[in-house]
Amino acid sequence: MKSDIRVCADWQAAHERPVYTLDDTCPDCGADAVNSAPAPYDPEDHYGEYRRRAKRRRRDA
Ligand SMILES: [Zn+2]
Repeated sequence: MKSDIRVCADWQAAHERPVYTLDDTCPDCGADAVNSAPAPYDPEDHYGEYRRRAKRRRRDA
């Protein structure tokens, strides 16, 4: 099943924080949404907090 959470590829330029979506594009700015797993940018820890929370939610589902 394909339910990977994606993140706006351009979030650092377009948003204050990562914008997550299950779609192929960012719902906010329309940029490509990329798989968040490899963490292309991880300047700060709050990013990891988002990922951890998402993972926990997925495991419960
Ligand atoms: Zn965006």
